[in-house]
Amino acid sequence: MPTDAEVRAAAFLWLGQQVGRHGDVLGWKALLRGFELGGERVPLLSQQGIFKPRLCELPLSIRTSVRSPYDDTLVDDRLAYAYMGRDPDHWQNAGLRRAWLERVPLVYFFGVAPGRYMPVWPAYIVDDEPDELRFWVQAEVGTLALGGAQVTASLQGEDLVEESFTRQYATRLMRQRLHQRGFSERVLEAYRVRCCICRLGHRELLDAAHIVPDADGGAPVVPNGLALCKIHHASFDAGVLGIEPERLRVRIRPDVLEEIDGPMLRHGLQELEGERIWVPRAAGKRPDPECLEKRWQSFRARAS
Ligand SMILES: [Zn+2]
Repeated sequence: MPTDAEVRAAAFLWLGQQVGRHGDVLGWKALLRGFELGGERVPLLSQQGIFKPRLCELPLSIRTSVRSPYDDTLVDDRLAYAYMGRDPDHWQNAGLRRAWLERVPLVYFFGVAPGRYMPVWPAYIVDDEPDELRFWVQAEVGTLALGGAQVTASLQGEDLVEESFTRQYATRLMRQRLHQRGFSERVLEAYRVRCCICRLGHRELLDAAHIVPDADGGAPVVPNGLALCKIHHASFDAGVLGIEPERLRVRIRPDVLEEIDGPMLRHGLQELEGERIWVPRAAGKRPDPECLEKRWQSFRARAS
């Protein structure tokens, strides 16, 4: 029988592979199926928030659903995690308490859209507040700093010189990533996972673009977003392509319209001149006219 530490290490490795293959948001089904170790299936989560696979002695993962507002739970670079029920000694709470005392690394699954989770690991329980019925969690530098590809920090975190500093940094980074992932999941969902310009429908080739950029104070909300394929996102950001706010028409920069080149330029850009973009039917999800106007002005300024 594999030990708890072996199962945990295998789970981290498996997650790293999944993230490498599918990006840093994973589907419920794959996580529920998990992987095989020593002839036994190891799921990564379950219906319950605190999850302990049969092969583990202590919980392996904690999970928040997309409905939990994570903003409210982040205080001083630590995340609050509510107890299971109201009994501090419920076996799941007791398990997490042991994970805290024994410094056992966990996976934190954040719901960013229905059935879709961003895993963060290794995450540690750093405090316990029985009176408030909650634990406090911090992320560790590992998956985060490297865009989710690999776990590099040691499982115990002993190699980290300034541990509390790196944890603060990692937790802040995690929050930023959560915002981004939440934004892109919501935008892609609103646009039915298709580019609003060319209708390409491959999730791995799509981005959620900000209409008013992040750097200019654009909020990470659906009305400030557009689902765009990689080429149209890059064209939008480079000022090669703009969107006329009132008529929602695609406009290609005049000098690019006159160029002569291969099929990508012709079909992918020039022929889209004047085409109407597809926007969600729900009023609350459509692009905000003010955001479009602001972006349009900067497109025009750059194009002239
Ligand atoms: Zn496109």
